Amino acid sequence: KVIEGEALRKKMHNTILELKGNIRVFCRVRPLILDDDVENETKTISFPTTTEAMGRGIELLQHGQSHPFMFDKVFTPQSSQEEVFVEISQLVQSALDGYKVCIFAYGQTGSGKTHTMMGTPGSYDDKGLIPRSLEQIFEARQKLKDQGWKYEMQVSMLEIYNETIRDLLSSNKSSSTDGGNKQQYAIKHDPNGNTHVSDLTIVDVRSSKEVSYLLNRAGQSRSVGKTQMNEQSSRSHFVFTLRISGVNETLEQQVHGVLNLIDLAGSERLSKSGSTGDRLKETQAINKSLSSLSDVIFALAKKEEHVPFRNSKLTYLLQPCLGGDSKTLMVVNVSPAPSSVNESLCSLRFAARVNACEISIPRRQSMRYLEPRLSYG
Ligand code: ADP
Ligand code: MG
Repeated sequence: KVIEGEALRKKMHNTILELKGNIRVFCRVRPLILDDDVENETKTISFPTTTEAMGRGIELLQHGQSHPFMFDKVFTPQSSQEEVFVEISQLVQSALDGYKVCIFAYGQTGSGKTHTMMGTPGSYDDKGLIPRSLEQIFEARQKLKDQGWKYEMQVSMLEIYNETIRDLLSSNKSSSTDGGNKQQYAIKHDPNGNTHVSDLTIVDVRSSKEVSYLLNRAGQSRSVGKTQMNEQSSRSHFVFTLRISGVNETLEQQVHGVLNLIDLAGSERLSKSGSTGDRLKETQAINKSLSSLSDVIFALAKKEEHVPFRNSKLTYLLQPCLGGDSKTLMVVNVSPAPSSVNESLCSLRFAARVNACEISIPRRQSMRYLEPRLSYG
């Protein structure tokens, strides 16, 4: 039973969110790395320093033409994992308050999605936002315990490859290859907005250490697929889900939050003409799910009546966590390499569309930035 005070607080919070919209788009440009074409001196990305665009603007130079964009936040190659997390921690925290949260990493292969999400395993400073989020959540849980809150946490991890779900925590290896069993990993949503995926392994967790262990296990399961299935990891979506249930008997309150952290498949446009068979199918599946995702977020931002959740496995799986009063953050990762300029422009345009901004800016107005919505309050 949710008491009035809590209901009122949530309602007010929702009203504020409604005014602001609950979709945010961040952009992160990674540093140049050794693999990049560093001999080519052309600078393709710059960060405007005008008062209005500071920390939010990015300008891409392609064939001498400038493409300016503005997002809720732009991280430069100098931005640390810590600096990125500071901007996200409030959103993570709201999952403990009973909100459904989705954080996506989008971008071409090699743009820094996995670095942003996971970071370098074993390196303290380089930890990405999945380990940082978990540490924060388990720390906060400890503090809330003193206020009478009891939390239960459950983790699942899956991969969507070619519109097929693969359970990354399954101990049964044979089941992870989908032996033609149509009922396996069927997605169902109950009226309370909970998602059930049949046969998916769900693990109760009590510490961030336990989750780290599971992340390692999932990582191994992914890399096995990598060699067997043609570097599957860059062509599949990785979905980490933490379900949070909190009860406070004294206050007679309960909350049910979900935190979804998603490392999306590489967004690069693989040439359709050149690919056949499995590769063509793979390409089509990625294109379909990424464009479905932008269609869904776009429709939600525009408050359209029909939201096409069912057009892909990913959007259908996340349906209850994308609509309503849930919160979505898209981190668009961009490579600064001159050879990636076309893909970078595509990623920024995707982000701009998700941000419900105009996609193209007339040349003459190119210095006027697109206005994003306010950031999370
Ligand atoms: P993706 O997951 O998008 O394919 P990765 O996260 O694997 O890309 O990043 C590609 C390479 O760039 C990796 O070697 C990674 O360590 C490095 N990298 C990405 N982002 C950063 C960053 N912000 N700082 C330092 N190195 C980075
Ligand atoms: Mg990756």
